[in-house]
Amino acid sequence: MNIPRTSFPRVVIIGGGFAGVALAKKLSKQEVQVVLLDKNNYHTFQPLLYQVSTGGLEPDSIAYPIRKILKDFPNFYFRLANVNEIDAKENIVKTNIGDLNFDYLVVASGSETNFFGNSEIEKHSMAMKTIPQSLNLRSLILENFEDALLTSDLKERNALMNFVIVGGGPTGVELAGALAEIKKGILPKDYPDLDTRMAQIHIIQSSDCILKGMSENASKKAEDFLEKLGVNVWKNVRVTNYDGKTVTTNSDLTFEAETVVWAAGVKGATIKGLDAEEFITRGNRVLVNEYNQVKGFNHIFAIGDIACMANDEFPNGLPMMAQPAIQQGEQLGDNILEFIEDKPMKAFSYKDKGAMATIGRNKAVVDLKNFKFQGVFAWYVWMFVHLFFLIGFRNRMVVFVNWVYNYVRFDREARLIIRPFKKRHKV
Ligand SMILES: Cc1cc2nc3c(=O)[nH]c(=O)nc-3n(C[C@H](O)[C@H](O)[C@H](O)COP(=O)(O)OP(=O)(O)OC[C@H]3O[C@@H](n4cnc5c(N)ncnc54)[C@H](O)[C@@H]3O)c2cc1C
Repeated sequence: MNIPRTSFPRVVIIGGGFAGVALAKKLSKQEVQVVLLDKNNYHTFQPLLYQVSTGGLEPDSIAYPIRKILKDFPNFYFRLANVNEIDAKENIVKTNIGDLNFDYLVVASGSETNFFGNSEIEKHSMAMKTIPQSLNLRSLILENFEDALLTSDLKERNALMNFVIVGGGPTGVELAGALAEIKKGILPKDYPDLDTRMAQIHIIQSSDCILKGMSENASKKAEDFLEKLGVNVWKNVRVTNYDGKTVTTNSDLTFEAETVVWAAGVKGATIKGLDAEEFITRGNRVLVNEYNQVKGFNHIFAIGDIACMANDEFPNGLPMMAQPAIQQGEQLGDNILEFIEDKPMKAFSYKDKGAMATIGRNKAVVDLKNFKFQGVFAWYVWMFVHLFFLIGFRNRMVVFVNWVYNYVRFDREARLIIRPFKKRHKV
C-alpha cells in the first residue's frame, strides 16, 4: 500500500463513518501512524439519506471527502480499500489493494441492512443505507410516476403509486413524511394529468407503536403527524414477504406495490476473521468490553454500530446511532494512547444526548433527557442539530440554503433521474 513504516506504532482503522473519523481526528495529532481504510473515499451523513432519496438534497451535500477531513495531519494515511479479511494472529488486514500490518486495529465498519434472511425481500425491496442506494430509490420513485402516467391499467397504476415502507423507526417515519410532502406539493405540479390522490404511502410496523425507542408522547405525536399528512400507519403487522409485486403480511393485509423500502433493521457489517461465533453477538455485532477491546484481544478494538458494548442499561448493546459511535471513537483515541504508554484505560460511559425525528415541514419530535417536545420548535431543533453535525462548511451552507429554498417554495429541486434504476440492477 506504499505506507512507510516509521518509529510510531501503526493504528489501522477500518471505516470512515462517524466512529472511525472521530477516532482518526483524535489520534492523528499524536505520535502514532494512523491508516484509515474505507471502501468509499467519502464520509456519509446517513441521517439525511432520506432527503437524497426524495429529491430534497443533492448527494454531494451529505458526503465529504475523508482525505479532506484529515488533510492537516502528517501522520495520517487514507487508502481507498475494501477490507476482505482480518488475520488477527499475524496482525494483518487483507484488502482488495493488498495486505497491511498493524500494531493496533480498530474495526469501525458500521452496519448494513438486515433482511433477516429473507432473500426475496432482499432482492425486490429497496434499502437506504448508502448514497448509491438512496439515488436508486430516488430514481425508482420518479420512474414509477413516469410509468404511472403511461399505463391505462388501473391496477398497475395503483401499484406504481403505492409506496410501502417497512419499519416504523426514525428512518421509516422520516421517509414517509417526505413522501407525503411530495404527494401534496410536487406531484400535482409535475403530473397535472395524473390523479395524484391515488398515491398511497403505507408504513408498516411490527410492534404496537412507531418510534419505539422514543417516549410515548413522541411516538403518539409522530403517528398523529403522519396521519394528518395522509400516511397509512399499520401497527402490529409483520411483513412476511415481497415478491416484487405483492407485499404479504402475517395478517389478511396485502399491498400491491412497485416500491417497497426496507427500513426494518440493521446488523453489524462484520469482516471475515472477526465473524466467528465467539466474537459475534445479537445483531451480528462484535462483542467488546468497556474499553472497546474485542473479546480475546488487547490490541484489536471495535467501535460504533459494529461494536456491541452491553451494560445494565443497554443489555443488547448501545443504540446503533451516531452519538455512541462518535463518543466511542473519541474515547478510544485517548485509551489507545494510554494503552501504548502502559497506563490504565478509562471505561467507556455513554452520555445519552437524546433522539429526534422529523415528519415533514414544521413537524418533529425531540426527546432530550429532561425535556421532550414536539412540533415547530422541535423541527427547528432538528434542523439545527443536523446542520451542526454535518461535516464541512460548504455542506452546511448548501443544505441550509436548500432547506430554506424548499421551505419557501414548497419544492424539491433534486427530483432527477440521473442514473435510471431497474429493480433487478440493485447495488
Ligand atoms: C437512513 C439512516 C438514518 C439514520 N438516522 C440517524 C439519526 O437521525 N440519528 C442518529 O444518531 N443515527 C442515525 N442513523 C444511524 C447512524 O448513521 C449510525 O449509527 C452511524 O453511522 C454509525 O457510525 P459508524 O461509524 O459505526 O458506521 P458508518 O457511519 O456506517 O461507517 C462505516 C464505514 O465503514 C466502511 N466500511 C464498512 N465495511 C468496510 C470494509 N469491509 N472495508 C472498508 N470499509 C468498510 C463504510 O464504507 C463506512 O464508511 C441513521 C442511519 C441510517 C442508515
